[in-house]
Amino acid sequence: MNEKYFKTKYEYTHRVEDYNNIAPSHKTHSTNPVTRTQKNGIYKITCKTCHKAYVGQTSRNLKSRFREHKRYIKNNDPRSAYSLHILNCRHEYGDTDDTMTLLKQINTPTHLLPYEQTYIHSFHHNNKLIPEQHLNEHNAMFDFLHSNTTCHNPHGA
Ligand SMILES: [Zn+2]
Repeated sequence: MNEKYFKTKYEYTHRVEDYNNIAPSHKTHSTNPVTRTQKNGIYKITCKTCHKAYVGQTSRNLKSRFREHKRYIKNNDPRSAYSLHILNCRHEYGDTDDTMTLLKQINTPTHLLPYEQTYIHSFHHNNKLIPEQHLNEHNAMFDFLHSNTTCHNPHGA
């Protein structure tokens, strides 16, 4: 009885120590209990001007991914399809709460890419995808379908 108690106590203490060792570094291993509370998965960022969306995946925190896109825009760096869209079309971007939505939370890293592709194709099919996103796709069908991309601006500016 006593032995069992101490064993449990010992294991519990060690789990807490492991957790504390991992927590401050924010390492993104699947065994890390901290990452499970973060929102990993497929997200969209909606353009405030044309209301079309960029679809992306992140294995990190959503807000830090958004800050990255914003930094590209501020640095005039068309590194992501989203920053390319905003810069090219001179469209307006909002803040995270306004424009960024988690489409699906995914905790298995190998599922990120197939789900991202599925969402991209679905958004494209429904004409809700920013045209710039196809540049990230090495897909002949996408290239063909988007060969005449133009910026749509409902305000005509
Ligand atoms: Zn737009």
